Amino acid sequence: MFNNDNFKSQVVGFGVGASTFLGAQMLMGIGTKPYYKLLQKDFDQFNENEIKYIKHKANFALISSPLYKMGCRIDNVTEENCNRFLPIFKENMNKYLLKNFENKINKIKTLLTNKKNSSKIEKHSQETINKYKTKLEKKGIKKRLKNAIRSVADGENAFYFPITKEAVVNMDKKPALAFHEMGHAINSLGLNKAGKVLTKLRNPFFKLTPIIALVGLLKPKKQEGEKAEGIADKTTTFIKNNAGKLTFAALLPKLAEEGLASLNAKQLLKMTNMNKSIAKRINISNFKAWGTYLLGAIILSQATRFAIYAHDKIVENK
Ligand SMILES: [Zn+2]
Repeated sequence: MFNNDNFKSQVVGFGVGASTFLGAQMLMGIGTKPYYKLLQKDFDQFNENEIKYIKHKANFALISSPLYKMGCRIDNVTEENCNRFLPIFKENMNKYLLKNFENKINKIKTLLTNKKNSSKIEKHSQETINKYKTKLEKKGIKKRLKNAIRSVADGENAFYFPITKEAVVNMDKKPALAFHEMGHAINSLGLNKAGKVLTKLRNPFFKLTPIIALVGLLKPKKQEGEKAEGIADKTTTFIKNNAGKLTFAALLPKLAEEGLASLNAKQLLKMTNMNKSIAKRINISNFKAWGTYLLGAIILSQATRFAIYAHDKIVENK
């Protein structure tokens, strides 16, 4: 059944399909940027006085909401000070990774330990943790983290760092972004119950998207009249046939969490008695930013569908 020609077309088909998917994933990051800029054109451009006013209101919102008491802070990352922040972020990231690793090891430890081997296992797991720690310390600062901080300093982006409860924003350039990031803090810290659940779901669900694409590409297409048999076959056939919809569904928790962060921001703006027309511009800008997430989700789910279609066509026409 697997002659040479067939195998070749499988490989070519998989290559085309996989690169379509990866391309779409990149496009989500890069391609939506110009679209975002075009959408934001006038809405997030504030003059010097407005910027000072919004900065003041954002700090006021942080201090007068429960966020401050819960340890949330705003980091003002500017072009002048951004290099100083890098090692601090790296250290925090390492702390987080080490804690995660320790939890994993401890889980395995309890599974493996019995009366006879407990001291041996204890020693071995401590050694493994120490090795991981030195490995983390030796590593340089990841390029992704560097780029993220850089784009904040340029006033192009902002983010919320849940590990340290910090909203990372250029407050001298784009203080309006602080409201949406505090909106993420409200979700992540559980001040919004639904937001807390969505915060926990968004990343594990997002990680499903390449798996859905992979199943769709690896699963051979059913011939006409051929039926799926058994649970595994039925499940993978369902995933292949509904890959686009499933990808979109996997992105829904992220979309919902982003939308909720902006709704929280709206509440914060209200709380500060922000000048109505400025508040409106910030809300519209946040809503448009959400549109870029929606666009990204549509691109990725349609690309997944197309990648699988293209793969099957190539394999069929070998
Ligand atoms: Zn966001």
